[in-house]
Amino acid sequence: MTQETTKRAYIHTWGCQMNEHKSEGIAGVLTEEGYELIDSMDEADVVVYNTCMVREKAVDKLLSHTGLVAKLKKKRPEVLLGIGGCVAQALKGELSERTNQTVDFIFGSSQIGEVPRLIREAKMRTNQRAVMAMERIPDKLEDLPFLSFSPFQGKITITEGCSNFCSFCIVPYTTGLLRSRLPGSILSEAAQFVEKKFQEVQLLGQNVDSYGNDLKDSDINFANLLKAFTEIDLPRVRFISSHPQDMTDDVVKVMGEDNNICEHIHVAVQSGSDRMLENMRRGYTKERFLSLMRDMKENVEEVSVTTDVIVGYPGETEEDFEQTVDLMQQARFDGAFIFKYSPRPGTISYLKYEDDVPFETKQARLEKLLVMQKQISEEQNEATIGKTYEVLVEKMARDQVRLLGKTRPNKTVLFPGNPSLIGKLVNVKINDADMGGLYGEVIV
Ligand code: SF4
Repeated sequence: MTQETTKRAYIHTWGCQMNEHKSEGIAGVLTEEGYELIDSMDEADVVVYNTCMVREKAVDKLLSHTGLVAKLKKKRPEVLLGIGGCVAQALKGELSERTNQTVDFIFGSSQIGEVPRLIREAKMRTNQRAVMAMERIPDKLEDLPFLSFSPFQGKITITEGCSNFCSFCIVPYTTGLLRSRLPGSILSEAAQFVEKKFQEVQLLGQNVDSYGNDLKDSDINFANLLKAFTEIDLPRVRFISSHPQDMTDDVVKVMGEDNNICEHIHVAVQSGSDRMLENMRRGYTKERFLSLMRDMKENVEEVSVTTDVIVGYPGETEEDFEQTVDLMQQARFDGAFIFKYSPRPGTISYLKYEDDVPFETKQARLEKLLVMQKQISEEQNEATIGKTYEVLVEKMARDQVRLLGKTRPNKTVLFPGNPSLIGKLVNVKINDADMGGLYGEVIV
């Protein structure tokens, strides 16, 4: 039987940088409660699954993982399982039944601060029903003791929720409407990273360009927030994600100036067909997107632009799809995440449109775009050969021999070097490249 004094917690995260950051919040509250964080579930007293519903089969993946915890509980019945994030938010109490009562506590995306209370209540309950925190007042991000998983790269959430209601997206339903933090609160969080001499901070929001839209003060907007970050003593500032409808010329202008804002924009285009874009409720046309793309390339030297694309959205004809092909050929993204459409219960698309593009057609379209994008990514990467870039060394590469780092435009670079360089900025000359990244050597 595990001793009360050796409380250990294991956290598993699915999804994007924002969810990763939520897990840093969960890690922070658990550490304050005296938990030691561990990398393997087997020794844990509390297992927390922080879920995401953006990708396909999120529920299936979660359920197969809860099977592992069920097995662990057979050996150690005192182990507690908590499920948080989007799936928890969408399924709520239903999760008890879907996990065969394996889950002990369930919490929403903005109820991280409730986790210690839930653990206490779960331990004391007299039946198998999971305890829940869903409808309470959302966490005040300022009050959460985020524990940065990296000692040199920090994350700051600037907005929570989203009010765009793109027809395919579950986010506004699971995380609520847009809520922007006040600039002072964001900047004081940044000051803590400066004090700890972090190399990089990433600003996070479902749609960072909508920052401030809910605060009804025209001076509070994303371009001004970025400008404030240029005054801060941090070598690098990144942000994710951008939205073509809300991105302003002022944001592009700040990025184009000589400052600490990194030259990478992740901006989801989703489709090149105006008809699809309208049905998706995206708020822009193909032409508007391409013009934004031209602005970014003209104003921000060596900018790298990555995107998300959905194929097989309801009603997508061959002609609609060819518009996406054409857009991707013109835009020449540095990278693209390409997905087959799959309906999410509760979204506008789910209610309004039949999922009528056959699976084989979706698959063929996906493969066509993947092949095309691989070629473009390779060409974009090859254009860096012979140049020297500032690289932030993040970790050992998977081969455990070379180092892995990122350029300011967020390109992955592999190169030989001493592990003592991890966490430092070095200059790397690029000797080779392929679609996956760049290869080089440190220049002293
Ligand atoms: S902008 Fe659209 S796709 Fe992005 S989070 Fe909001 S609703 Fe979802």
